[in-house]
Amino acid sequence: MSPKLRAPQSKFSIRTVSRKVIALGVALPVAALLVISSTSTPGTSVALDLTPTATSAISKSLVAHPVTGAIPFTGDLKAKKRLAKIAAAKAKKIATARERARLAKISRNFTRPVVNYRLSASFGSKSRLWAHRHTGQDFAAAYGAPVRAAESGVVVFAGWDGPYGRKIAIRHPNGVQTWYGHLSRISVKVGQNVKVGKRIGSVGASGNVTGTHLHFEVRKYGVPVNPVKWLRSMGIWV
Ligand SMILES: [Zn+2]
Repeated sequence: MSPKLRAPQSKFSIRTVSRKVIALGVALPVAALLVISSTSTPGTSVALDLTPTATSAISKSLVAHPVTGAIPFTGDLKAKKRLAKIAAAKAKKIATARERARLAKISRNFTRPVVNYRLSASFGSKSRLWAHRHTGQDFAAAYGAPVRAAESGVVVFAGWDGPYGRKIAIRHPNGVQTWYGHLSRISVKVGQNVKVGKRIGSVGASGNVTGTHLHFEVRKYGVPVNPVKWLRSMGIWV
């Protein structure tokens, strides 16, 4: 037997098989990595994000604008906020205009008790002149200036009333009465129907006063309420 004669090396020798196993062991994970990375590139991951949070965010942002009907750009929170702000401002403007129109209509049935005046002692203020807080609103005005019925009604008092001096009380609907105090002259009688704006007397300084003014009082079911607030609620700005 010649020493040169050796059995031909088998294709499947242990050495070659182990080399192939190692090669596969490297190639497979690399291929897997490539496949994964190709399906999760930044461009496609956003479009395919259908998690509950993502879908609800999209559907919320697709709500049409209440005024323009426009559908805002998907997911643009700033645009959404801006549109909401515009809609709120428009709604407020409409509400203000409606309230103005309502007050303008009501105000036809009311008027200021005097025309030229300066608001002096306000409702609820304290003074040594009164035992309790001020139950009305004082309108400082010229002696003899016309005093007018703030609302249509029936005269229920016309005469002297202690600290009020010469006083007129008019009864109106809804349990309201208006009182006019410290008058210099009374030109209506009890039981008389008076229209809004009718001259009922003149500004004076009768009763418990330090100067010429009209004491204007509003009572609702006998309880004094703020006359300025009451007039303003009827569309009369004083
Ligand atoms: Zn007063």
